[in-house]
Amino acid sequence: MKYDVDSNGYYGQFGGAFIPEMLYPNIEELREQYLKIIEKESFKAEFDDLLKQYVGRPTPLYFAKRLSEKYKAKIYLKREDLCHTGAHKVNNTIGQILLAKALNKQKIIAETGAGQHGVATATVCALMGMECIVYMGEVDMARQRPNVERMRLLGAEVVPAKSGSRTLKDATNEAMRHWISNPTDTHYIIGSVVGPHPYPDMVARFQSVISAEIRTQLSSLEGRALPDKIIACVGGGSNAAGAFYHYLNDERVELIAVEAAGKGNESGKSAATTVLGKPGVLHGSKTLLMQTEDGQVVEPYSISAGLDYPGIGPIHAHLFDVGRVKFESATDQEAMEAGVELSRLEGIIPAIESAHALAALSKLELKADEIIVINLSGRGDKDLETYIKWGKY
Ligand SMILES: *Cc1c(COP(=O)(O)O)cnc(C)c1O
Repeated sequence: MKYDVDSNGYYGQFGGAFIPEMLYPNIEELREQYLKIIEKESFKAEFDDLLKQYVGRPTPLYFAKRLSEKYKAKIYLKREDLCHTGAHKVNNTIGQILLAKALNKQKIIAETGAGQHGVATATVCALMGMECIVYMGEVDMARQRPNVERMRLLGAEVVPAKSGSRTLKDATNEAMRHWISNPTDTHYIIGSVVGPHPYPDMVARFQSVISAEIRTQLSSLEGRALPDKIIACVGGGSNAAGAFYHYLNDERVELIAVEAAGKGNESGKSAATTVLGKPGVLHGSKTLLMQTEDGQVVEPYSISAGLDYPGIGPIHAHLFDVGRVKFESATDQEAMEAGVELSRLEGIIPAIESAHALAALSKLELKADEIIVINLSGRGDKDLETYIKWGKY
């Protein structure tokens, strides 16, 4: 695969493993073991079985008739919103908990911002009877009470990060600190295609089940495996990486990533990394990053907690750099309108993250009868408060 990670963990100029020396043993163990483990037949069989019986895969590839009529194209929705826990994130946490077991780890740690990845992690820890600690910024804990309680109900310990801005970045630091002190019995589950190598590649492989299914499903529905366009939203980029993965070398398929433009890319309140970012190092890898002249990370903003991240995974920085993936961005308002539109036209309330992907429909030039697949990364139940506050429906 020509867009694949190289043996040093790079996608073109992006990627690598920029970590404190204290973390070398942890990362080195993962780097040496991950492919050996996840390519074993017994691992694949257990992973596939859990995805089927526990997560509910394959998720449908649903032909959205009324949405198609409106945009005059053939639009299919890949229904990741129907996964257990309500989003694609569980595909990755299932994979990583099996990997942790294979590495003989007894404890799991994770960091979480809005709480979605924390919930997906607490879920698989309960499933496997493993101890789970989730680090979360104190400010985020107050903002995301229902997810904190979900994690607790699932048996996880949620530890507040009380330093700095008391948000995701500080939670990540605390999780790293914990991991450094407990390298032998603990595995750290990262929630997107970010972090030091081998995390981005590992997470992309676990999420690639999405595009593997799209190929099979589209073949039987349309008699061809290749759609004309695939659209996905990008926070760190794991649902997009999963939806694009098995199409990267099929250059005829146009791949479109949608970032969050917040209140507009010139407003100072945006999270559109490819528009506003420059190369830099974030969370252990070289990537595109929103930063000041002297390299301080700029606080991103989006109405959607899952897209509110100042970087993107190195695979996406590379795909942007070489032009394989086209990047668009959608504002809060465009996403909210697209979310209401899908609710009304199809009876599906999307996560606000996923609504950003839907918002691209009105920005793209679509040809009649073009086949478009939109990755519906999650369901909107968690976002009801935000829909209510926005109010225009
Ligand atoms: C977390 C989340 C995202 C953003 O994460 P990616 O790694 O970019 O996929 C998108 N959609 C939903 C529903 C999420 O929960």
